[in-house]
Amino acid sequence: MYKTLEAHIRQQVAPAALRAEFRQHEFEAMRRFCLLIFCIGIAIWLVFDLIVSYLGDQGLTWRSTAFLALLGCLTVVLGFTRRSQHFDVLNLLFVVVITLGLRLVIEGVPITVRPVWLILTVSTVLYTVSVLPVRRWSFFCAMGITWVVLNPFHHTRVEPFELEGALLLSYALFLSGLVIYSYLRLRQAKLHNFYLTKVLLEQAYIDALTEIPNRRSFMAKAERLLQLAGPGQFLAMIDIDNFKQVNDRFGHDIGDEVLKRVAAHIRAAMADYEIARLGGEEFAIFFQGLDEQGAEQRVGALCQRVRDDVGAHAVTISIGLARVDNGDTLSLALIRADQALYAAKHSGKDRFVLWSAPVAEH
Ligand code: GH3
Ligand code: MG
Ligand code: MG
Repeated sequence: MYKTLEAHIRQQVAPAALRAEFRQHEFEAMRRFCLLIFCIGIAIWLVFDLIVSYLGDQGLTWRSTAFLALLGCLTVVLGFTRRSQHFDVLNLLFVVVITLGLRLVIEGVPITVRPVWLILTVSTVLYTVSVLPVRRWSFFCAMGITWVVLNPFHHTRVEPFELEGALLLSYALFLSGLVIYSYLRLRQAKLHNFYLTKVLLEQAYIDALTEIPNRRSFMAKAERLLQLAGPGQFLAMIDIDNFKQVNDRFGHDIGDEVLKRVAAHIRAAMADYEIARLGGEEFAIFFQGLDEQGAEQRVGALCQRVRDDVGAHAVTISIGLARVDNGDTLSLALIRADQALYAAKHSGKDRFVLWSAPVAEH
């Protein structure tokens, strides 16, 4: 089952809109991590710069201060960055500044050890960029910039085709290949996971037949709205009248069509509110920001809308409406709406009844 779903997902993950949604989602999830990486980058650079500046008897120069200020500014900008495409550019700028800063530090160490420090630095920068949520173009540009600025053959007296140079060259190729491969595989795996989660969540919270939210979704959303305790909350429970007869006379498939039609009416009429198919031929609506008259007017209009749909296999609906007061639980509201629905059924169907204490007693 998992393999079938996975194969299906592999075919589906190509759409550009889905990839854009994934990138934005990934950036939002990793924004704090990116901030941490920027801060760690600055800290590492600063420690090495101070060591080289003071043990190398140069003191802290204006150039070090300028790099520090630039890196600090980019980190502050990241704090305000909300779109993944902006991060692609910002990260590139950060890579430019930090690699130049690192080059400056490494120029301060003896020439014989520079190649080793350059290659160590390149490895660290490339590994770090490969785990950040950046697009391919941004990743490959960052890689190019890193190799150009921290080129271990520049200012180091190492020749590419001598012993040390040949070793460095092979290591550079090996390192680049490994980083590119792991970056691409990691992104692919994350994209698949994102899509898989999206599909599973949709299946868990959307009713397969009517394509409106299901009971699980409704309970979670209504519970949250109840906690927010906004003004004018009402709960409506809807049941199709004599639905069993539709199934018995025309068959289950026609029954399903009727269910879809009623769900479409509810969705169209109640676009501003939380709706759901609770199960069978029962639906629910959670209203917010309405007074009693407004809620009654909306459920009345819904009854009318379904009644007026006089095409093939016409049906009517009954609705139980309950006011939700501050401090009421969802189960209490559901019980009251159910009692009002019962009253609507027993007073002739094709109508709504607002819950009140006498309705409950009846
Ligand atoms: P009332 O007016 O009192 O509500 O009468 P009713 O016939 O609608 O009453 P009841 O609740 O007993 O009938 C519900 C029927 O809904 C029974 C069940 O077979 C049918 N049903 C439940 N789920 C589905 C479904 O997914 N598809 C179809 N076609 N029928 C369903
Ligand atoms: Mg029923
Ligand atoms: Mg029914």
